Amino acid sequence: MSGIIALRIDVDTLRGTSHGVPELCRIFKKHDVCGTFYFSVGPDNMGRHLWRMLRPSFAWKMMRTNAAGLYGPEIVLMGTAWPGINIGKHNVGVIRETMNAGHEIGFHAWDHHKSQANLMTMSEKNMRREFERGLGFLRSVAGGEIASSASPGWRTNDRLLEVKAEFPFVYNSDCRGETPFYPVVKGKKLAQLQIPVTLPTYDEMLGRDGVTDANYNDRQIALLTQSHPNVLTVHAEAEGGRCAAMFDEYLTRVLAAGWRVVTLGELAAEVRDTAPAGYMQLDDFPGREGQLAVQKQSPTQQG
Ligand SMILES: [Zn+2]
Repeated sequence: MSGIIALRIDVDTLRGTSHGVPELCRIFKKHDVCGTFYFSVGPDNMGRHLWRMLRPSFAWKMMRTNAAGLYGPEIVLMGTAWPGINIGKHNVGVIRETMNAGHEIGFHAWDHHKSQANLMTMSEKNMRREFERGLGFLRSVAGGEIASSASPGWRTNDRLLEVKAEFPFVYNSDCRGETPFYPVVKGKKLAQLQIPVTLPTYDEMLGRDGVTDANYNDRQIALLTQSHPNVLTVHAEAEGGRCAAMFDEYLTRVLAAGWRVVTLGELAAEVRDTAPAGYMQLDDFPGREGQLAVQKQSPTQQG
């Protein structure tokens, strides 16, 4: 299958949900396309995340990508001086409107900061609790089952995949790679399809190899391939904020060039009968702090 861009939107913060999501919905409506929105619905502690990550390399990335410009000035305080505001409770209308506009709704996190930092090392019981809290809320808003999840920061291991398998997800998007596959854990093929993200994100590309806002769309479009389905992640905080006009232009260009933009659910439905078994492993990744889950051709040991 070729000529496809499956579009995934990660929503990490209160501001991204209340401002970025409606802006992206407006852009999608203009182009008559739909995407899969992964919502974070518990407390917004992303400010804590930024402070915790304040190491020299991360500080450089923050400057490179102008984090305060991307996330808004309040992000550096969010979850530091006061408990994070509950994102979902304040944005029921936004989530419903996104769904009613024809977009797919998926589960990203209860607490994005906590999940990204600790989910892989939590006890299975606490992993389940994070899923139950977030999914319980999303189901109540959506009025039905949530078919998909995406681990914050692509941080996933075998234990987490096994816990996810207890929930009624049809497919997940937890890793980086090239082609959809069914993960093998402890020699057993899981029933939940995995849809890897194939393209780099804005914050991974900006400031590296001469990428600037002026040439970003050229560079991103040049990475599209006909050899397998492309999967792109945009962030409500970036492409729904400071980068909105640039992303609008990206969609204009790819649609004019004949690319078919679909939700991850549509891609999953097209490949679910033919996708092979596969593996994932934690690994370093260009432009990202720490290790994240990457698709591999052969089995490897992991925790
Ligand atoms: Zn995220």
